[in-house]
Amino acid sequence: MGADSPSRDPRDPMSIAMDEARAAAARGEVPVGAVLVGPDGTVLAHAGNAVEAGDDASAHAEMLVMRAAVRRLGGPRLAGCTLVVTLEPCPMCAAAAVHFRVGRIIFGAYDPKGGGVEHGPRLFARPDCLHRPEWIGGVRETEAAALLRDFFARLRGR
Ligand SMILES: [Zn+2]
Repeated sequence: MGADSPSRDPRDPMSIAMDEARAAAARGEVPVGAVLVGPDGTVLAHAGNAVEAGDDASAHAEMLVMRAAVRRLGGPRLAGCTLVVTLEPCPMCAAAAVHFRVGRIIFGAYDPKGGGVEHGPRLFARPDCLHRPEWIGGVRETEAAALLRDFFARLRGR
Protein backbone atom coordinates (compact mmCIF):
# COMPACT_ATOMS: atom_id res chain seq x y z
CA MET A 1 0.00 0.00 0.00
CA GLY A 2 2.36 2.71 1.13
CA ALA A 3 0.15 5.78 1.44
CA ASP A 4 2.45 6.90 4.25
CA SER A 5 5.74 5.67 2.85
CA PRO A 6 8.90 7.79 2.85
CA SER A 7 9.39 10.24 0.04
CA ARG A 8 12.86 9.44 -1.25
CA ASP A 9 12.02 7.38 -4.28
CA PRO A 10 14.19 7.71 -7.39
CA ARG A 11 11.42 6.64 -9.78
CA ASP A 12 9.32 9.28 -11.52
CA PRO A 13 5.83 9.74 -10.07
CA MET A 14 3.98 8.08 -12.97
CA SER A 15 6.20 5.01 -12.64
CA ILE A 16 5.38 4.86 -8.92
CA ALA A 17 1.68 5.18 -9.77
CA MET A 18 1.97 2.34 -12.33
CA ASP A 19 3.65 0.13 -9.73
CA GLU A 20 0.84 0.92 -7.28
CA ALA A 21 -1.70 -0.01 -9.97
CA ARG A 22 0.06 -3.35 -10.57
CA ALA A 23 0.16 -4.02 -6.83
CA ALA A 24 -3.57 -3.19 -6.62
CA ALA A 25 -4.32 -5.71 -9.38
CA ALA A 26 -2.37 -8.36 -7.47
CA ARG A 27 -4.66 -7.70 -4.48
CA GLY A 28 -7.75 -8.09 -6.67
CA GLU A 29 -8.44 -4.35 -6.82
CA VAL A 30 -9.14 -2.44 -10.01
CA PRO A 31 -5.60 -1.44 -11.04
CA VAL A 32 -5.40 2.27 -10.48
CA GLY A 33 -2.45 3.89 -8.73
CA ALA A 34 -1.87 7.46 -7.62
CA VAL A 35 0.91 9.65 -6.28
CA LEU A 36 0.67 13.05 -4.62
CA VAL A 37 3.68 15.26 -5.30
CA GLY A 38 4.34 18.32 -3.16
CA PRO A 39 5.16 21.79 -4.54
CA ASP A 40 8.88 21.02 -4.19
CA GLY A 41 8.64 17.70 -6.04
CA THR A 42 8.60 15.54 -2.91
CA VAL A 43 6.43 12.44 -3.16
CA LEU A 44 4.05 12.94 -0.24
CA ALA A 45 1.97 9.80 -0.70
CA HIS A 46 1.38 6.92 -3.07
CA ALA A 47 -1.35 4.30 -3.05
CA GLY A 48 -3.41 1.95 -5.15
CA ASN A 49 -7.14 1.38 -5.05
CA ALA A 50 -8.22 -0.21 -1.77
CA VAL A 51 -11.96 -0.56 -2.25
CA GLU A 52 -12.09 -4.31 -1.57
CA ALA A 53 -9.45 -4.34 1.17
CA GLY A 54 -11.07 -1.54 3.12
CA ASP A 55 -14.72 -2.37 2.35
CA ASP A 56 -14.88 1.23 1.22
CA ALA A 57 -16.26 2.14 -2.20
CA SER A 58 -14.69 5.59 -1.88
CA ALA A 59 -11.16 4.22 -1.35
CA HIS A 60 -9.97 5.17 -4.82
CA ALA A 61 -6.21 5.68 -5.12
CA GLU A 62 -6.65 9.43 -5.56
CA MET A 63 -8.73 9.78 -2.39
CA LEU A 64 -6.15 7.81 -0.42
CA VAL A 65 -3.18 9.90 -1.54
CA MET A 66 -4.97 13.23 -1.07
CA ARG A 67 -5.98 12.24 2.47
CA ALA A 68 -2.50 10.93 3.28
CA ALA A 69 -0.83 14.06 1.90
CA VAL A 70 -2.89 16.53 3.96
CA ARG A 71 -2.16 14.45 7.06
CA ARG A 72 1.50 14.71 6.22
CA LEU A 73 1.48 18.43 5.38
CA GLY A 74 -0.73 19.31 8.33
CA GLY A 75 -3.47 21.34 6.65
CA PRO A 76 -6.72 20.69 4.83
CA ARG A 77 -5.57 21.68 1.35
CA LEU A 78 -2.97 20.76 -1.26
CA ALA A 79 -2.24 24.06 -3.01
CA GLY A 80 0.65 23.76 -5.45
CA CYS A 81 0.59 19.96 -5.29
CA THR A 82 0.28 17.59 -8.24
CA LEU A 83 -1.89 14.50 -8.33
CA VAL A 84 -0.47 11.84 -10.65
CA VAL A 85 -2.82 8.95 -11.42
CA THR A 86 -2.89 6.13 -13.95
CA LEU A 87 -6.53 6.67 -14.96
CA GLU A 88 -8.68 9.74 -15.56
CA PRO A 89 -10.22 10.60 -12.18
CA CYS A 90 -13.89 9.78 -11.66
CA PRO A 91 -16.32 12.57 -10.72
CA MET A 92 -15.88 11.86 -6.98
CA CYS A 93 -12.10 12.15 -7.11
CA ALA A 94 -12.18 15.14 -9.47
CA ALA A 95 -14.55 16.95 -7.07
CA ALA A 96 -12.33 16.02 -4.12
CA ALA A 97 -9.33 17.47 -5.99
CA VAL A 98 -11.27 20.73 -6.28
CA HIS A 99 -11.99 20.75 -2.52
CA PHE A 100 -8.37 19.89 -1.71
CA ARG A 101 -7.28 22.69 -4.09
CA VAL A 102 -4.89 20.41 -5.95
CA GLY A 103 -2.83 22.52 -8.34
CA ARG A 104 -2.36 20.03 -11.16
CA ILE A 105 -3.54 16.60 -12.22
CA ILE A 106 -1.57 14.33 -14.53
CA PHE A 107 -3.37 11.19 -15.60
CA GLY A 108 -2.65 8.20 -17.82
CA ALA A 109 -5.56 6.47 -19.54
CA TYR A 110 -8.75 8.26 -20.49
CA ASP A 111 -11.97 6.84 -19.06
CA PRO A 112 -14.89 7.57 -21.39
CA LYS A 113 -17.33 5.64 -19.15
CA GLY A 114 -16.25 6.65 -15.66
CA GLY A 115 -14.07 9.74 -16.00
CA GLY A 116 -15.09 13.16 -14.73
CA VAL A 117 -12.43 15.42 -16.22
CA GLU A 118 -12.52 14.97 -20.00
CA HIS A 119 -15.70 12.89 -19.91
CA GLY A 120 -19.01 12.76 -18.04
CA PRO A 121 -19.57 15.93 -15.98
CA ARG A 122 -16.24 17.50 -17.11
CA LEU A 123 -16.07 19.03 -13.68
CA PHE A 124 -13.25 21.52 -14.21
CA ALA A 125 -14.90 22.96 -17.30
CA ARG A 126 -18.08 23.87 -15.44
CA PRO A 127 -18.51 27.61 -14.91
CA ASP A 128 -19.44 27.03 -11.25
CA CYS A 129 -16.24 25.07 -10.53
CA LEU A 130 -14.69 26.62 -7.40
CA HIS A 131 -11.11 25.83 -8.26
CA ARG A 132 -9.71 24.56 -11.53
CA PRO A 133 -6.67 22.36 -11.35
CA GLU A 134 -4.56 22.32 -14.50
CA TRP A 135 -4.66 18.89 -16.03
CA ILE A 136 -2.77 16.81 -18.55
CA GLY A 137 -4.28 13.53 -19.73
CA GLY A 138 -2.91 10.67 -21.79
CA VAL A 139 0.50 10.46 -20.14
CA ARG A 140 1.81 6.93 -20.86
CA GLU A 141 -1.74 6.20 -21.89
CA THR A 142 -1.01 2.91 -23.68
CA GLU A 143 0.73 1.40 -20.67
CA ALA A 144 -1.94 2.63 -18.24
CA ALA A 145 -4.79 1.38 -20.43
CA ALA A 146 -3.11 -2.03 -20.87
CA LEU A 147 -3.03 -2.52 -17.08
CA LEU A 148 -6.80 -2.11 -16.91
CA ARG A 149 -7.49 -4.12 -20.05
CA ASP A 150 -5.39 -7.07 -18.83
CA PHE A 151 -7.05 -6.99 -15.41
CA PHE A 152 -10.59 -7.08 -16.80
CA ALA A 153 -9.64 -9.72 -19.38
CA ARG A 154 -8.37 -11.93 -16.53
CA LEU A 155 -11.60 -11.34 -14.58
CA ARG A 156 -13.53 -12.59 -17.57
CA GLY A 157 -11.29 -15.65 -17.59
CA ARG A 158 -9.40 -14.94 -20.78
ZN1 LIG B 1 -12.27 8.09 -8.19
